[in-house]
Amino acid sequence: MEDSKVIIIAGGGASGFFSALACKEAFPQHRVVILEKTRQLLSKVRISGGGRCNVTHACFDPTLLVQSYPRGRQELRGPFSRFQPLDTIRWFTQRGIELHAEEDGRMFPTTNLSETIINCFLKEAARLGIEIQLENGIEQIERNQDGFILQVSNHGEMRCDRLLMATGSTPRIFSLLEKLDHAIHPLVPSLFTFNLPDSPFLDLAGLSVPVAMATLPALGIEQKGPLLCTHWGFSGPAILKLSAWAARELDQCDYKTSLRINWLPELSEGECREEISQVKQRHSGKQIGGEGLFQLPRQLWKRLLTLAEIDEQRKWSTLTLKELSILISQLRSTQLNIQGKTTYKQEFVTCGGVSLKQVNFKTMESRQCPGLYFAGEILNIDGITGGYNFQNAWTTGWIAGNSIGAF
Ligand SMILES: Cc1cc2nc3c(=O)[nH]c(=O)nc-3n(C[C@H](O)[C@H](O)[C@H](O)COP(=O)(O)OP(=O)(O)OC[C@H]3O[C@@H](n4cnc5c(N)ncnc54)[C@H](O)[C@@H]3O)c2cc1C
Repeated sequence: MEDSKVIIIAGGGASGFFSALACKEAFPQHRVVILEKTRQLLSKVRISGGGRCNVTHACFDPTLLVQSYPRGRQELRGPFSRFQPLDTIRWFTQRGIELHAEEDGRMFPTTNLSETIINCFLKEAARLGIEIQLENGIEQIERNQDGFILQVSNHGEMRCDRLLMATGSTPRIFSLLEKLDHAIHPLVPSLFTFNLPDSPFLDLAGLSVPVAMATLPALGIEQKGPLLCTHWGFSGPAILKLSAWAARELDQCDYKTSLRINWLPELSEGECREEISQVKQRHSGKQIGGEGLFQLPRQLWKRLLTLAEIDEQRKWSTLTLKELSILISQLRSTQLNIQGKTTYKQEFVTCGGVSLKQVNFKTMESRQCPGLYFAGEILNIDGITGGYNFQNAWTTGWIAGNSIGAF
């Protein structure tokens, strides 16, 4: 009989559960205990994806997958070659839960209920004999030669041989980790929409285009994708991705900077000019605002004409070359000012956390403090919206769980 050790997992969220299950499955001889500070397990899983839980993303090539992580891109390459969305799907299928992909690649349980995922984790934890203690958060961590001595909110002191931190983005925990020589990247929000109080598109709220390029010229960062007009500014995948990639820079400028929109990113300036010139010739007697060009929604087309100071009722034949150039520049480079941010459907992710240089991604063990492991959002890793953040929790949790029990 192998030695039984005590493994404590701090945090009863997505990454804490996934690592506890992997650990107890791989090392049934050990006592595995989840300590959760609050009364509720898996609370973010419950509210995730609007109550449907966007479990992962249907992207099965690790090289492509890492492109969706503004932080963690390099470090997740290895881990994704060991546990990626295909493994997530398999993991759930083996436990009787089917996932389905939507057109945009987001994957949900076929029940469309986050409860399905929660019930699966709770059932598995009970089957494997994982101990769960609620309202018992870690308050202090001390390392000694045998393992860790923890001050916990409920039972005073607890000892363990190994400790896995899966506490998400909790500032309090970061100060404890700093005492154990860990560098922490400051926390700032990621995944938000832009407030544009002076935007000429506010009254077009609800209107969207399938592909636009959104650029932050002062920061040199751009992202392409669907764009949605809202009554406070812009949202949609292009903006959410941009907010994630520029999370730190936007925080530094207090969410005040200029934004440029190219409504026709798939066309060069020459192609754009050619297309408008042809329409001008073909429809010389018709009104310029009569029909939306380039498949842009008509309302948007009319608004862009107004911004270019071209009367929509004028005939195509009257459009001068100078006006054509102004219109093209408006279509390719609408200038706006961001003044603040708004949370996206309450889904928020935090950028920042434990420095990735201090973690061995083959095991998820700390390089600073042997015996201490990490999984999930506690790390300086965050993905764009679409199931990538949970995939990080599953992958890092699975690797940590499969490593932490080997003595
Ligand atoms: C509204 C919302 C919707 C989201 N939807 C999606 C989605 O659909 N798809 C997706 O991929 N991502 C989504 N996300 C992001 C995703 O939820 C997180 O990336 C993920 O939950 C991180 O998992 P985690 O286990 O690392 O951290 P958490 O889920 O934050 O879990 C950490 C746990 O640790 C506990 N804890 C904290 N301090 C202590 C302590 N001192 N001692 C013990 N326990 C402690 C906390 O109470 C918590 O239960 C969403 C986020 C939000 C807020």
